[in-house]
Amino acid sequence: MIRAKLIAAALAAKIPTAAVDPTAQAYDSLDAASQAFFSQLDHSSGNEYAGALFRDADGKYRYSIPMNGKSDKFSMQIQKNPNAIFSGIMHTHPGQEDSSQYFSANDVDTAKTLKVPSYVWFEKSNQERKYIPGQTSASPIADHLSWGVVSRGDPVSDLAKALIAARQPNSIQPPVSQPPLDIGEGK
Ligand SMILES: [Zn+2]
Repeated sequence: MIRAKLIAAALAAKIPTAAVDPTAQAYDSLDAASQAFFSQLDHSSGNEYAGALFRDADGKYRYSIPMNGKSDKFSMQIQKNPNAIFSGIMHTHPGQEDSSQYFSANDVDTAKTLKVPSYVWFEKSNQERKYIPGQTSASPIADHLSWGVVSRGDPVSDLAKALIAARQPNSIQPPVSQPPLDIGEGK
């Protein structure tokens, strides 16, 4: 299976390639594509996952294969492809500690540098939030100045949570035989 090979190659690579998931559907919005990405991950694994979002020639959005994030400094390669324009980044925060409930200073910096929205799934609160450069507020926190400029992020609808609850959380394989997900604009 092509998807399995792409995931294996990403696992083996020093800097994994964020290849478009060949099984990913096309979604009307970045939010919707990010929700679909997070909904197919194994949230009970304790692993940190990362991925990228792409816009195709039709203006629809697709997600990459999931890659194992190792820390908030995780690196990935993006292939230049006119049919898959790099449009967003995603990762999970498995940490239970207070600092993990924010977009870290590095998360904020990375989104600003790449000029794309950043989506984080917070495992502790079972919630997805997004940081959009120039739009979402980010600031130091009085009691935790050492964290730097961090952000709570803005809410993304809880639909992904419902998607996760509706399926077996023991695999990163997407529900291949399921009908198209009607997740609308994701707002
Ligand atoms: Zn992060």
